[in-house]
Amino acid sequence: MKIRADVAELLRAGLPDRTIARELHVDAKNVAAARERLGLPKAKPGRKPAAAAEDLFWRRVQPTDDGHMEWTGYRDKSGVIGLRHGGTFYTAYRLAFRIATGRDPEGYALPTCEHEHCVKPGHHADRLDREREQRVDALYGAIFGQSA
Ligand SMILES: [Zn+2]
Repeated sequence: MKIRADVAELLRAGLPDRTIARELHVDAKNVAAARERLGLPKAKPGRKPAAAAEDLFWRRVQPTDDGHMEWTGYRDKSGVIGLRHGGTFYTAYRLAFRIATGRDPEGYALPTCEHEHCVKPGHHADRLDREREQRVDALYGAIFGQSA
């Protein structure tokens, strides 16, 4: 059985089978089978607000032909994209980061791909990621005698 990447992403984000089935227009039985195959526990009843914000995220994205995602939702005057849920404003990047990694970003989550304003989960880095990248560059420079 081949597990769709978007199904796997939502399963890892902790959404219930039925929610995923509804969001992605797939059979809930297939979602349950994918969950079992990935070895993930059943989602607990009573969803956390965070999961619901992620749920809303998926209704505001549009996949592009070249493997990225664009935001179709709210954009403020300064160009910040995101959504409001439960009195909190979440940027689209922050939600994408959380879906991809299962944790909140440290500092800003920003796209790392070339697609401008990309919101595809997995295409973002936070401050920790950027610092790690710098350390690797510095290490590389120290080993090979090149400045990063
Ligand atoms: Zn991208």
